[in-house]
Amino acid sequence: MEKKYEELKTRLLEINDINAATAVLGWDQSTYMPPGGAAARGRQLSTLGRLSHEKFTDPAIGHLLDDLTPWAESLPYDSDEASLIRVTRRNYEKAIKVPPMLLAAMYAHGAATYQKWTKARPENDFAGIQDDLAQTLDYSRQIADCFPGYDHIADPLIDFADQGMKAASVRQLFAELREQLVPLVQAITAQPLADDSCLHESYPEDEQLAFGREIITAYGFDFARGRQDKTHHPFMTKFSLGDVRITTRVQENNLNEALFSTLHEAGHAMYEMGINPAYEGTPLAEGTSSGVHESQSRLWENLVGRSRPFWNHYYPKLQAAFPDQLENVPQETFYQAINKVFRSLIRTDADEVTYNLHVMIRFDLELALLEGTLEIKDLPEAWNSRYESDLGIRPSSDVNGVLQDVHWYGGLIGGAFQGYTLGNIMSALFFDQAVQAHPDIPAQIELGEFGILHGWLKENIYQYDAKYTANELIERITGEPLTIDPYIRYLYAKFGDLYELPA
Ligand code: ZN
Repeated sequence: MEKKYEELKTRLLEINDINAATAVLGWDQSTYMPPGGAAARGRQLSTLGRLSHEKFTDPAIGHLLDDLTPWAESLPYDSDEASLIRVTRRNYEKAIKVPPMLLAAMYAHGAATYQKWTKARPENDFAGIQDDLAQTLDYSRQIADCFPGYDHIADPLIDFADQGMKAASVRQLFAELREQLVPLVQAITAQPLADDSCLHESYPEDEQLAFGREIITAYGFDFARGRQDKTHHPFMTKFSLGDVRITTRVQENNLNEALFSTLHEAGHAMYEMGINPAYEGTPLAEGTSSGVHESQSRLWENLVGRSRPFWNHYYPKLQAAFPDQLENVPQETFYQAINKVFRSLIRTDADEVTYNLHVMIRFDLELALLEGTLEIKDLPEAWNSRYESDLGIRPSSDVNGVLQDVHWYGGLIGGAFQGYTLGNIMSALFFDQAVQAHPDIPAQIELGEFGILHGWLKENIYQYDAKYTANELIERITGEPLTIDPYIRYLYAKFGDLYELPA
């Protein structure tokens, strides 16, 4: 058995190497590649993607898994060997169910649609991309139908991103959250808008980047095992556990942009840097779920990086870095500015309170499209009326409406958005547990010390990566299934104080 296990690991390592090469090419494409490289790069990425898929769906992997599964089931559930075989088997069974022809057609369609979208968006041309989106919906249904026996057609697609979650369970969770969020948004937006003009002075790029690097170094981002570069849409990528890259973008007249995208992506990266080194090159180091990953970026971005104790420490440093812009701005004004709540049209610009309403609109529309109760041609109108009813604001065009997010124009319709809100919910759940274990964490943050929090996250979350599903991880940490309670308590405490709302 040990010999077969080693053979499986050798094969998985080879696949991992191909995927890492793909990641390097993808990172380069989004950072330094000249425009002339685009066509060849697309072909190279698709060749490597096909090679990796062929190697992973090789029947030899299936035979090894068949032979090893009884052995794995005789071992403790959370042993590394049993976990590696269990997780690989789960991924393998998903991979072999989708016919390679369908997958190739879907990828080619996704790449072509993405190219069209980069033009359709600035030109506000939904009509021009509508037929492509209808084709994407058709592919999404075909992919879901490769997994018969689902309760809801979105279930297989949700499961790709957030394993173990279903349309029904997410709907239930979102309905509870919505019931709590809507009155909070109403109470806050009934008050005068916070003045955030201090964030829109001119802030030189190099100083912005240096300040972000200072913070994430203190967080525990290890520059010996990572780096930061500039891009158009910030992301994190990993080539190995010793080489984790983050990207950011800088706007000279918007202090939010580089600062908070840096804290966010560093949260993703620190998770990857904290994975058990023994999992290197195996599916155990390929990530738990989009929700758990997002919980770690949101935790460092919002629960730490937009908190009062954090800025008690960092605001004097920020003022010293930008004396002309901030010397005469009181800390409270700055704190209100970075936590300004407002009814907005763009998801990625949304504040902590309204953000989840943006996600729920997209999630509900995905379900309606997949169910067939909404047609693509009616999508812009459905989008706009949901913004009007949920956020009290109607998009003036599809550019700040249905054309704004890349997800449906390069991937599938279904499963694309719920992870963001699941991540928000989990970020508060995990932070709450860390503070229960170490009540001095807020006082430490106030001193600019993050080691205790980082250590708790490594110990309880990072090291395991894909060994446990999101639901298993939450049960292990809290002893209960996922609940919105800590998140609601967090939002009401923070914004109740900020906006002096009645308790
Ligand atoms: Zn993220």
